[in-house]
Amino acid sequence: MKQKCNYCHQECKLIQAHIIPKGFLKGSESNSIKDKGFLEVSTEIHYTKNRPIGPYDQNILCATCDNIIGDYDGYAKTLLIDEISKYKDGRKPCYIFPSVQVDYTKLKKFFISLIWRASISKRDEYARVTLGPYEDIALKCLKDDIDLRDDIFSVLIFKDAPNIKYQDVISFTASKLAGKRAYKIHFSGYQITIVPKSIDMTWSIKNGTMSPADLFLKKDQALIIPEVDIDVSGKDQMIIKIYLKLRMKQ
Ligand SMILES: [Zn+2]
Repeated sequence: MKQKCNYCHQECKLIQAHIIPKGFLKGSESNSIKDKGFLEVSTEIHYTKNRPIGPYDQNILCATCDNIIGDYDGYAKTLLIDEISKYKDGRKPCYIFPSVQVDYTKLKKFFISLIWRASISKRDEYARVTLGPYEDIALKCLKDDIDLRDDIFSVLIFKDAPNIKYQDVISFTASKLAGKRAYKIHFSGYQITIVPKSIDMTWSIKNGTMSPADLFLKKDQALIIPEVDIDVSGKDQMIIKIYLKLRMKQ
């Protein structure tokens, strides 16, 4: 049966397109993931499902377009799963990637594509991920019709500390960051926050303002991924705290 691909808009045969790339499943450090696959949790519809090969949707993409996005998936997997240990900071609970080691375009597009895939999917698990007009903007970013910007689809990346038990849990939830709608994605031991709408990368805290902007994925800047032992993504105050902690230890 022919359906319309959401990327190329052609009528064609669609394939099983992964929402969370399969590579993240195989390469994970966590034994529980290797044994059982992912556990998908949806707080909105109150269930958990085992996903031995990760979550996918067969109604969103054709093979050609899935391959285009697959290039970003592959890059992100190499950086965030295979190579991350090389970038562990010796003194602080974080990973620091020098800007020259990060392909900003590919990594940014990977995160945009994750939230876009969840948004175009009609599956119940992603019902809360609705980008609205930002769905089209996301697609334009992926196709280079719009330049990538730090402050649109802003991305914060946190990594679960090794003692965290729920690393194999996948969840997509909606929240807020700095007053803007944000989406939290948890998978393969990563807590990701994505804010589609343009964000002022400063938060007001007690004495004036201070910018935890260093923690956002930014072009031509070192990528900092703090290691955390709690769920922090999308929680303003918690993120500021972590930022201050890292700064003080510098
Ligand atoms: Zn296509």
